[in-house]
Amino acid sequence: MAPSADRIVIENVAIATVDAEDTEYASGHIVVKGNKIESIGAGKAPEGLENVVRRVDGTGHLATPGLVNTHHHFYQWITRGLATDHNLFNWLVALYPTWARIDEQMTYAAAQGSLGMMARGGVTTAMDHHYVFPRGSGDLSGSIIRAASEMGVRFTLARGSMDRSEKDGGLPPDFAVETLEGALAATEETVKKHHDASFDAMTQVAVAPCSPFSVSTELMKQGAELARRLGVRLHTHGSETVEEEKFCHELFGMGPTDYFESTGWLGDDVWMAHCVHMNDSDIAAFARTGTGVAHCPSSNARLAAGIARVPDMLKSGVPVGLGVDGTASNESGELHTELRNALLINRLGAHREAALNARQALRLGTYGGAQVLGRATQIGSLEAGKLADLVLWKIDGIGHASIADPVTAIVFGAAAPVTLSLVNGRPVVENGRLLHADEDAIARSTREEAQRLARIAAES
Ligand SMILES: [Zn+2]
Repeated sequence: MAPSADRIVIENVAIATVDAEDTEYASGHIVVKGNKIESIGAGKAPEGLENVVRRVDGTGHLATPGLVNTHHHFYQWITRGLATDHNLFNWLVALYPTWARIDEQMTYAAAQGSLGMMARGGVTTAMDHHYVFPRGSGDLSGSIIRAASEMGVRFTLARGSMDRSEKDGGLPPDFAVETLEGALAATEETVKKHHDASFDAMTQVAVAPCSPFSVSTELMKQGAELARRLGVRLHTHGSETVEEEKFCHELFGMGPTDYFESTGWLGDDVWMAHCVHMNDSDIAAFARTGTGVAHCPSSNARLAAGIARVPDMLKSGVPVGLGVDGTASNESGELHTELRNALLINRLGAHREAALNARQALRLGTYGGAQVLGRATQIGSLEAGKLADLVLWKIDGIGHASIADPVTAIVFGAAAPVTLSLVNGRPVVENGRLLHADEDAIARSTREEAQRLARIAAES
């Protein structure tokens, strides 16, 4: 199919490009041709453009790159609001027995809920780290990818796995895990079936064993080899809590970062969620190898995990993106509010007022996310030739109009309404509503599936 020559012209809009120089325009234009940005700059769009199918007056709006989510567990949408006063390990042990009962219908509904909530809030690239595959539960990966494709967002599925259960000193119950061979074979099959390596790919797949305390050393090692053989990225959880650090020392005789290094898990094709408990040499190892971090400030607060050293990571050159994390540990399920939370929570850490500024927070949620997903040449900033994934935030309403600086308004202020978001040049949200999914139907189905899962879990 030839690329579309249709153009969308956006004018009179404030623009934060998040390019390498942080170029901004107080009033500018963006011309989208097909699925790419054709031109961007100050003032009006060039005259005489052909095939213009839509003109958007962006007065009262800020245009930014679409937000990129780098860590999530969609299935948790139907187990929100449970184990609300627990730390990570107690929370996991409380929830694993319920999670191990999910099926394809539940997973699909939960994916719709997770994706819908994020898309409404300006996310144009989503990711799901899915690692619970109960026997006989159907095609869970396929159902998640279908939900993302129907919603119209760009998507990375991190095909997770667990093979270290209670009998091997792990945290998950024995019936909730896969075998080493089964997990590797299913992961390879998922990559071969769904991963698209092209520039404008809408679906990519990463290899993603869950965490050191739920995965065997052999699965970590062979998972890394598999990903490199297939040319896809690697994702897992790392250094989330002090309990995890203790677990690694007891079981492996070393801390999490050394363990990752020993299993082939540091590299510029790897990104890890959390990385809260990192010392200077851990951060240096991430910087030296180009290993990326998915910073999840709300989830870290919810589970009392601690504050990741994001300012030190950025100073050392570690790529850092933002993550919602699963919504059983971040019930809001929103990413645009994480811009603000990242900024505020890091100021509670060691760096105080200089920890992060508004533009750094916006960069984490856009370009930083594109970097850790391995897509920085394609998305994450507004530049001619990149894919047209962008958001128009309404900043002339009651929540923002009295703040002069547009970037300060959307980061420090209330969550800004999304008037329009484009993914791959195609509108996905208009005036705060999803265009390709029925929000009321999703609300109903997610409630029904949450109740059905609770019933099944209670009976077993
Ligand atoms: Zn997680």
